[in-house]
Amino acid sequence: MAENILILAPAPFDATPPDHGMLLKTLRERRFIADTLEINGALHYHPGEAFMTLITFLGCSPMIATGGKHNGEQSCHIAIEGPSAEPHFLAGDNLKIPRCPYCGHRYDDWQAVVNAWRAAPYAKMTCAECGETLSATQLRWRKCAGFGRLFIKVWGIFESEAVPSPNLLSLLESCSGTEWQHFYIRHN
Ligand SMILES: [Zn+2]
Repeated sequence: MAENILILAPAPFDATPPDHGMLLKTLRERRFIADTLEINGALHYHPGEAFMTLITFLGCSPMIATGGKHNGEQSCHIAIEGPSAEPHFLAGDNLKIPRCPYCGHRYDDWQAVVNAWRAAPYAKMTCAECGETLSATQLRWRKCAGFGRLFIKVWGIFESEAVPSPNLLSLLESCSGTEWQHFYIRHN
């Protein structure tokens, strides 16, 4: 079954990520998440009662059972992954070819770019077309991939169907001391 996931991550990718326990406590207190469920041996959370006010749906809002009042199959659930010691690259089957933010050069060889980044996440590269020095993390990934050491994953959100509300972003910012970005991945 296809998975559609909205992902939130501290920005920039090398910002010090918040403590997992503290983030969890804040998201619980603010009712973004509620009770736990186990999926493939990992701890996930049902959306809390304030979930629909912290995520802004751009079209029709789907029916999402919140506050732990769920029956049977539930497509919307949340997990917090990290912080990990090293940053990771996350992408899915919806990946779009990234472009240089300066000249728009198309990185058809993005896999080689990501492999080089994995080997040296803090190194810079030189754009083959315009010669600007930049990090692979600065390419225009068009909200279909991202980098980081900690990710909040919200399953059941389709690409560009919903965005984090300003309230959620400021909540995350205040508990981490850094800005946050979001992107969407899909596993077919
Ligand atoms: Zn360029």
